[in-house]
Amino acid sequence: MMVYKKSVESAIIIGGGSTGCSIAYHLVQRGLKVLLIERGNIASGNTGKSSALVRTHYSNKLIASMALYSINQFINFDSIGYSGFTRTGMVFPFTGDNAETARANCDMLRSIGVAEEEIPVSKVKEFFPDLNSEGFDYILYEPNSGYADPVATASSYANAAKLLGAEVITGKTVVKVESDHHTASVYLENGKKYTADKVILASNIWTNGILQSSGVENSMMLPLHASVHDIIYIRRPDNCRGLKPTLWDPQQSAYYKMEGETLTAIGSLDPEIDREPFDIGQSIENHVTESYIEKYLNNITERLPCAGDASVVSTISGIYDMSPDGQAIIDSMEGAGMENVYVCAGLSGHGFKLSPAYGMMVADMVTGKEPGDSLFDWSKFSINRFSKGDSIKSMYSGIGTIY
Ligand SMILES: Cc1cc2nc3c(=O)[nH]c(=O)nc-3n(C[C@H](O)[C@H](O)[C@H](O)COP(=O)(O)OP(=O)(O)OC[C@H]3O[C@@H](n4cnc5c(N)ncnc54)[C@H](O)[C@@H]3O)c2cc1C
Repeated sequence: MMVYKKSVESAIIIGGGSTGCSIAYHLVQRGLKVLLIERGNIASGNTGKSSALVRTHYSNKLIASMALYSINQFINFDSIGYSGFTRTGMVFPFTGDNAETARANCDMLRSIGVAEEEIPVSKVKEFFPDLNSEGFDYILYEPNSGYADPVATASSYANAAKLLGAEVITGKTVVKVESDHHTASVYLENGKKYTADKVILASNIWTNGILQSSGVENSMMLPLHASVHDIIYIRRPDNCRGLKPTLWDPQQSAYYKMEGETLTAIGSLDPEIDREPFDIGQSIENHVTESYIEKYLNNITERLPCAGDASVVSTISGIYDMSPDGQAIIDSMEGAGMENVYVCAGLSGHGFKLSPAYGMMVADMVTGKEPGDSLFDWSKFSINRFSKGDSIKSMYSGIGTIY
């Protein structure tokens, strides 16, 4: 008997962040009828809070390859819209005990085509003349990295998808997902139902809530927890002005994103903050405490003394959807009784820069391409990798959250 495999013709995506919008774009490009549903505005979730740093410096070859693919998309984004990619370069300093690991990683990155260089302290001082270089024993520099505009990127993907025929509904919340052997459906608060061949949850830390209200058993939930991350924006005084590289500072558990000529965004690389679970039922308004601000301002002033004259202009708090190995879960929910439902969640606080790759990989998965035939093997991101002991490994465990 011939087995007839129905081709996939339609998909519904829940969540209009960088992930969902990229997926929508990649699916509509393959000729599917696409509907994207977002309860707020496009990028109103964690994407809108993102520092949107775009780097290729990872210590896992697969993730680094995805980052390299993605940065090239951000740079050549004109056919999609505006990514706001700004090339600044990034500096990654290491203490002597981590130098060997970093050197091996540099070799790996170069082998896949990443422009990665060893640089002396004097070169970093060209960017930051007042730098306190204590602990900068071995330094890597990535000249092609930078940052993008997360809201512009997500909305460009959504608009490009719309131009190709996708429907985008904002301001509507999905309350339930259902699946049978052939299709999957989503229900809105007002009871309205939409059906397609496939449904994809790109709903970040809210994914388990949707699965729960859809009747999925607790034991089948994604292994995710929320952690809150605060960004402090300071305005640099005139003597620190200029477009400069992002400075990673694992010793101070911080990164310093030099945004434009005069702003610096101070973000945390503290693994303790990643581990601290947060109840997403609570508000993150006013999450940033005075003591947090004081600690991180002291840190940056120790590293870059001219920051001591800077003024705090604002703070932002957003949520990371943390998975056990700090990498996304990209999989079918068939094992949880949701045959035509898929997830891409658990991006663990570094998912913006990988959103072009995620969109392509999810489109491959949903349209039935074999994982080995995909540019990046999405089966490595399966839910059961944790129980099978196949977690995605970082060479940098213990150096701060740069994976
Ligand atoms: C402070 C901060 C700094 C960061 N810095 C970086 C960085 O420098 N570089 C980097 O690569 N990454 C960074 N990240 C991580 C990155 O921003 C995220 O991984 C990525 O943007 C997440 O995109 P997303 O689309 O998966 O999630 P979101 O943007 O959260 O999108 C999910 C969407 O789903 C919607 N939704 C949820 N439930 C429902 C429902 N029931 N019905 C309809 N819609 C629903 C939400 O409203 C939301 O808009 C940072 C994150 C934060 C918070």
